Amino acid sequence: MKSLFCYSKEDIRIEDVDIPEIGDSEALIKTIFCGLCITDVAKVINPEVKKPTKLGHEVVGIVEKTGKGVSKIKKGDLLAIYHRIPCYSCNYCLHGNYSMCRHSRETNLDPQGFSEYIRLTEEHVKYDTFIIKDKNNLKNAAFTEPVACCIKAIGKMPLKRKDKVMVIGCGTMGIIFIRLLKALYDAGVVAIDINDAKLEIARNFGADLTVNSKIDNVREKILKFVPNRFDAAVLTFTISETVDLAMSSVREGGSIQIFAGPLNERKIAIDFEELYKKELTLFSSYSSDPEPNRRSFNLLMDSKRNKLDFTPLISNILPIEEFKKGLDLALSQKSFKILYYFDEKIVNSIIPIIH
Ligand SMILES: [Zn+2]
Ligand SMILES: [Zn+2]
Repeated sequence: MKSLFCYSKEDIRIEDVDIPEIGDSEALIKTIFCGLCITDVAKVINPEVKKPTKLGHEVVGIVEKTGKGVSKIKKGDLLAIYHRIPCYSCNYCLHGNYSMCRHSRETNLDPQGFSEYIRLTEEHVKYDTFIIKDKNNLKNAAFTEPVACCIKAIGKMPLKRKDKVMVIGCGTMGIIFIRLLKALYDAGVVAIDINDAKLEIARNFGADLTVNSKIDNVREKILKFVPNRFDAAVLTFTISETVDLAMSSVREGGSIQIFAGPLNERKIAIDFEELYKKELTLFSSYSSDPEPNRRSFNLLMDSKRNKLDFTPLISNILPIEEFKKGLDLALSQKSFKILYYFDEKIVNSIIPIIH
């Protein structure tokens, strides 16, 4: 079967490896799509990440076979899957910090998401397989993991309906935040970016106001929209300028969600006098957890009603052989969500979307 091996940013190969064997409580799925996540891109370009490394986790697939002890799923079921499974018993898990659980961090897909077939272990089958009943929802289901990460991050913040929220950075994750904030909180959302094309997508996904921080007078423009400043800010792009912007734009008692790791410098100066006197709360959110995964999947399967259809964010659907092309598009910020497939025939037999 085909599996992706990335030895460096320039040396990416599709190699032929054995299809994994499965045990009695396990399942084998054939990958239909695997989405390219910004964390995959970061792993590829970060020289500190040892290569080749496992890549891909935003998978939808079809069950190829199951072990004789599996009853939850059966051959032919369409699935969205999640790669990390917490132990549910360690100190982190007991406190709800599932993404910090050591077991969760060690579990992954076998051999990886960017593989033609994937072995699901007993715990994957048990906890994080979601059956897609309507095949027309297949592409939206590919957003289960990224949307779950955003649901988890929003859930940590003390948001109320109609709150005013600033979203900084309008890449795929920023756009997902915008739509979720509108759909779940009917929030007033201001989107900030330096790319007009991204800001246009942000408007299409519901942003009430978009601001190009390279061109516009940011403070003047946002103060007209929120004279009393924002209840909250979400950073999907973390550099000292965006941290400063969030700190000065959020009202007293407001909150800031640090959703992305720092881009350039690991240490960013924060005005602690301002933080303290304004009683600001900084949250951070890494990866997702079991409950946001379930909620994400259920919301995505009900997109006709709740308008959480993210498929317009799919900018490219590419064969895995063109992985590098997608990677370059992502690196040059000329794409939103990129989906890769391994077998055009199986994709077209389920949902004819590749022309
Ligand atoms: Zn992801
Ligand atoms: Zn645990």
